[in-house]
Amino acid sequence: PVVTRFAPSPTGYLHIGGARTALFNWLYARGRGGKFLLRIEDTDRERSTPEATAAILKGLDWLGLDHDGEAISQFERADRHREVALDLLAQGKAYKCFSTQDEIQAFRDAAKEEGRSTLFQSPWRDADASTHPDAPYVIRLKTETEGATVIEDQVQGNVTIRNDQLDDMVLLRSDGTPVYMLAVVVDDYDMGVTHVIRGDDHLNNAARQMGIYTAMGWPLPVYAHIPLIHGPDGKKLSKRHGALGVEEYQVMGYPAAGMRNYLARLGWSHGDDEFFTDEQAKEWFDLGGIGKSPARLDFKKLENLCGQHIATANDAALLAELDAFMIASDNGSLQNDKKALLLSGMFCLKERAKTFPELIEKAAFIMADRPLSYDEKAAKNLDAVSRGILSELTPQLQNASWTRDALEEVMNQVAEANGIKFGKMAGPLRAALAGRAVTPSVFDMMLVLGREESVARIQDAAS
Ligand code: GLU
Repeated sequence: PVVTRFAPSPTGYLHIGGARTALFNWLYARGRGGKFLLRIEDTDRERSTPEATAAILKGLDWLGLDHDGEAISQFERADRHREVALDLLAQGKAYKCFSTQDEIQAFRDAAKEEGRSTLFQSPWRDADASTHPDAPYVIRLKTETEGATVIEDQVQGNVTIRNDQLDDMVLLRSDGTPVYMLAVVVDDYDMGVTHVIRGDDHLNNAARQMGIYTAMGWPLPVYAHIPLIHGPDGKKLSKRHGALGVEEYQVMGYPAAGMRNYLARLGWSHGDDEFFTDEQAKEWFDLGGIGKSPARLDFKKLENLCGQHIATANDAALLAELDAFMIASDNGSLQNDKKALLLSGMFCLKERAKTFPELIEKAAFIMADRPLSYDEKAAKNLDAVSRGILSELTPQLQNASWTRDALEEVMNQVAEANGIKFGKMAGPLRAALAGRAVTPSVFDMMLVLGREESVARIQDAAS
């Protein structure tokens, strides 16, 4: 069974690159009946904060990337990490190194002067255990000195690192705390992680981590190191590009499904498919489809995909997400009577809206309450002649049956009687029903608002 994990360091918000890493791991596991686990890498006590952990959980929750089981705190597992270091020591695969910082520096200086490799070679590696002084020490892994370590990466291909380029890494510091690299390996092993999918900034770590797996006789996970995300200008993503945290995308009103679709396409492809559902993504996602070069952020594409997801979403689900957006963007939850109208009007609101602010904009005729205020263009459309026609319309509307066909017939009759085309009436009607000039179709609005409210608004405008 496949087990993947997302292992963020809680030092800030969930950034877009992290969200994509989480998504890839989630898709890979979910498409294979596997498990997707979450581990908070909070061993750096200076930089890790509970607020950051909360922000990451919130971001994952918004994106719908649910994890199996409880989130694991790496820091809380320090005893277990220490135990493995001591195990390696007992097996003779690690050793106590008593070299001081000054001695290590002196080694490096001398090596540099003599033109040798400055990788530290501890004199304690092969020292007689009984000669150890009563002094602080670190525990180092006895790294292979011959041959090479080959990372069989599913994205990068085989990456070979000569073992004489790896020093004997520290596993436990002199204060007994485990290093990060050890913690990652022990946690991944204990969590049963089969596939490590992460940013390629961790590729070099993989070689070192493999040394620990090998020393413990543990099976290696499958590695897939994915290229980082670049800004639209092709440069490394930075603050300058804006919108780095996923919560910013939520506040901008992108639907989560569109965001997932977009993030999936950011560095992964499936033929020419751009728009797809979660089900398709889970079925299609594979490591072979991950590109080797950095993907570029493309807001046009994001908006385009989001528009398609809004247009095809289930109305009730869309309403729930719209409500969540209103809360997240500090606009407050929707009122129940508005919710009911939004739901019945969703069929016309969701056409051609790429974001929730655009959808809400189209819903202005629902969000407004009588007496409506008219914007400048709407006010212009309500001249004396138009108001006259609107007042002629109301008695007819009182008696018409409230269907699209019947309404159309009434409009056409009144237009004909006044010697104008229906198109001439549309502007005044939009103004009357919504208080603005750009709205969904007049018939859609009337059907959603119902007879009583529509007639009242038209009467207001006519008087
Ligand atoms: N905590 C690391 C990070 O946030 C990820 C480590 C890993 O995936 O192995 O970059």
